[in-house]
Amino acid sequence: MTNSLKCEQVPYSVLAAQYGTPLYVYSQKAMTDAFNLYQQAFADLKPLICYAVKANGNLSILRYFASLGCGFDIVSGGELERVLLAGGAAGKVIFSGVGKSSAEIEFALKNNIRCFNVESLAELERINSIAQRLNKIAPVSLRINPDVDAHTHPYISTGLKANKFGIASQDALTAYQLAATLPHLKITGIDCHIGSQLTDLSPLIEALQRLLVLVDKLDELGIRIEHIDLGGGIGIVYQNENVPDLNAYAAAVSKLLSGRNLPLILEPGRSLIGNTGSLLTTVEYIKQGEEKNFVIVDAAMNDLMRPSLYQAYHNIINASPTTADKFVADVVGPICETGDFLAKDRTIAAKAGDLLLIQSAGAYASSMASNYNTRCRAAEVLVNGTEHYLIRERETIDSLLATETACL
Ligand code: PLP
Repeated sequence: MTNSLKCEQVPYSVLAAQYGTPLYVYSQKAMTDAFNLYQQAFADLKPLICYAVKANGNLSILRYFASLGCGFDIVSGGELERVLLAGGAAGKVIFSGVGKSSAEIEFALKNNIRCFNVESLAELERINSIAQRLNKIAPVSLRINPDVDAHTHPYISTGLKANKFGIASQDALTAYQLAATLPHLKITGIDCHIGSQLTDLSPLIEALQRLLVLVDKLDELGIRIEHIDLGGGIGIVYQNENVPDLNAYAAAVSKLLSGRNLPLILEPGRSLIGNTGSLLTTVEYIKQGEEKNFVIVDAAMNDLMRPSLYQAYHNIINASPTTADKFVADVVGPICETGDFLAKDRTIAAKAGDLLLIQSAGAYASSMASNYNTRCRAAEVLVNGTEHYLIRERETIDSLLATETACL
């Protein structure tokens, strides 16, 4: 049996032999296709698509999205450093997040980012005073918490009253009125982000409708909103989810925005990168426990946290020409935690030495990786046709320990 499983035109076995495992592998073509879907669906609105860096901030990936015309949604000064290093335009960067530090705000102001998505009154005051010290005017958009249920996992639901994100709808007018009185702020927009991995369009539409009511009320108060930002993108297929149709989303947004001169910003992350990447891993051992079988692989929760964190499902296929019979097993890593699993009760054919492909690992995988158990973070490879590029070297123990001292 020959192994024909490939990323674009490169067999995974070739990548594993050259770069080792665990290894994140991304398809450039899949990135282009995902971006084009947004461009085409929203063609009449011509939104600024600000790729959410948190989904995957690899410099090569950022550089590629910048080359396609993307702006960026960042949530830290570190992410701004990444964007700038990758050649992204600061004028297309929006800065989200509830806890921006003074240093981060100053750095963003000095680089003239497009706007701050502000999440509290205290943050408005802080941005104003830093802008005053720098003799600048800070562009601000207020992130409103529209109190809609995004019907997603509670850890990635962000638009409910109980969530820490955004300014409560009932406080929105007061917050804008405060912003209007602060001399070093310029109100530019309004935004929301109700959650991630959204499989239902109706909460997104409801959130937009609620924002538009506010836009009109603000207009009556003489506060003009110059852009509207609907936050992250739609969900992706990990297993058999019924993900929303992007064209239907775009059509609904277009209808609600028609007649308004309100440029649109979107902040998709997962739907631009999630299904473009996989995590390639080698089976170390097959273990028969008393009640369960285990496929023990060389990737772990530190490489892909989503299953442990959200009980998320990732499809796993065997990329080797295996002769093993199928059996039911948990796919687990070497980390000393019962929570270290990549899949539960999966029917799989695998034997030691096989290569497994954990799919849909482009988003919130490498960017959430850690060094738990003193594990070096995995290498990353970008595939383009028959070419492949190492876009992140495998971390070494030396680099991992370089910032520590044994001083006692
Ligand atoms: N914008 C903000 C403020 C976010 O917190 C997130 C992620 O949750 C995103 C955009 C990207 O969301 P998604 O990856 O679902 O498109």
